[in-house]
Amino acid sequence: MAARTGEQYLAGLKDDREVWLGSERVDITTHPAFAGSLAGMAGYFDYQHKYADDCLMVDPETGQEHNVSLLRPRNEADLQRRHRAFDRLARYSNGMLGRTPDYVNVVLAGHASRTDIYDRSGDPIYAQRLVNYWREVQEKDLALTHTITHAAIDKSVGELQGMNEDLTLRVVERREDGLVVRGAKMIATLGPIADELYVYPATPIQQGFEHYALSFAIPVASPGVVQVCRDHYGVDQSPEDRPFSSRFDEQDAVVIFDDVFVPWERVFIDGDLGVYNAVNAATATGSTQQQTAIRASVKLEFAYDVCVQMAKVTGTEAKPETAALLGEIYSYLRIARSVVRDSEARGSDWGNGAFFCHDDISALRTMMPVWMIRVNEIIKTMGSHNLLATPTAAAFEDPRLGPLLRTYLPGAGGISAEERARIFRTAWDFAGSALGGRIELYERFYLGSIARARGLDHKKAQAKGETGAYAAMFQEIADTRAAQSALAGA
Ligand SMILES: Cc1cc2nc3c(=O)[nH]c(=O)nc-3n(C[C@H](O)[C@H](O)[C@H](O)COP(=O)(O)OP(=O)(O)OC[C@H]3O[C@@H](n4cnc5c(N)ncnc54)[C@H](O)[C@@H]3O)c2cc1C
Repeated sequence: MAARTGEQYLAGLKDDREVWLGSERVDITTHPAFAGSLAGMAGYFDYQHKYADDCLMVDPETGQEHNVSLLRPRNEADLQRRHRAFDRLARYSNGMLGRTPDYVNVVLAGHASRTDIYDRSGDPIYAQRLVNYWREVQEKDLALTHTITHAAIDKSVGELQGMNEDLTLRVVERREDGLVVRGAKMIATLGPIADELYVYPATPIQQGFEHYALSFAIPVASPGVVQVCRDHYGVDQSPEDRPFSSRFDEQDAVVIFDDVFVPWERVFIDGDLGVYNAVNAATATGSTQQQTAIRASVKLEFAYDVCVQMAKVTGTEAKPETAALLGEIYSYLRIARSVVRDSEARGSDWGNGAFFCHDDISALRTMMPVWMIRVNEIIKTMGSHNLLATPTAAAFEDPRLGPLLRTYLPGAGGISAEERARIFRTAWDFAGSALGGRIELYERFYLGSIARARGLDHKKAQAKGETGAYAAMFQEIADTRAAQSALAGA
């Protein structure tokens, strides 16, 4: 089949998946709440064809056309090829969709590039299964999501200890034909409207907890997979009135694996801690974070422009306080672009011929969430009450209301009342609507918490020997003093 259209994606969702919204088990293909989300995701599949030059490529081995995000990068040109695709795909939603399928595609391609890590188990079957799966995803153009975070509730003990022991996904039975797994994962963005779930290593697991050290992939519709949706934030309004909430609620859900069977051919890690604990360090920053950083940069670009429009329509563009806020967002964008470009230019073979970005790209993981939160704060600061004085497009059509709105809510500088309302509606949908609030939470946590990322960066700095400046200063002082004493004594 290879690269699918939106229609083909929608046809693939007709199955027996168990999705709960509130107290109701729903058929996502017919339930009205999901209509906008499904159309939005179908649009993504069509978009890859519309911009086929950027988004699609032909696999030299199979001759099939597939999304560039499934490329296993082998050199700098491949990284550039991926950059172009990630950038284009992010523009579909201006970065507001976090879990477009290119995200988990790039994770999988990264893993399939490092089969040497999987071979550490001593059995080549695991790497072979992983490569087979990567090929299958290419061939079927599946929409994957991941659910990798342990379902730890009690933070006073270890992630897999105390009450957490029985909450998180683990093996409960080994059969001739596969594994039976039980427990939860927190959470799966896109889960209810994806084709498959990819479970792979997240935070490291210690000895004695091998039955949690799992990686596998299964269809969302596998018996026993129960998805519990958060409230849906999509709205049944036009994209002109609600550009994001009408199309881009990528629905998060808690995933409960209620004794789910996983066939052996879909098991990639089975209790091997050496492999489990090595996968992330070998792939996550250099490979995955190329996609996430480019997606976020595209979003910053959009945020900057929306803020410029807000300044124009209120006549504040030339005011120093507004210019400072606009310049602040632009600085974030420029830093993000520079880090991405620099990390790509300093890409290297991470092992097994896998050519990934320099690990310094991970600095954006700790800064981007802070900037995203700040951008939303700037939108609200600049927008003020204007964010709420925003009639819908249809309100302007009303013969009584339309003329009043044009009289009392025009834009500054000759900008029409309709355009003024659209700018502020867009800004509110970006930063303040129910979906906007959820997206801010996503930016904070989707790559793990900022605190964890910073702690990891500190560890890396120590391992790289990024220390000694303090001792060097006092050595310099001591050397100077000794030289002066020698001179004085001479
Ligand atoms: C909208 C959304 C979508 C998501 N989608 C997915 C998905 O599809 N798949 C998936 O697997 N995961 C997903 N996640 C991520 C996952 O659910 C967790 O939110 C994430 O991994 C963080 O987990 P945690 O709560 O254990 O964080 P923790 O690291 O425990 O952090 C919790 C809080 O404690 C603070 N903290 C932690 N350690 C320290 C410290 N040392 N010092 C000071 N403060 C500290 C943090 O700053 C944070 O405020 C998503 C999250 C969100 C919000």
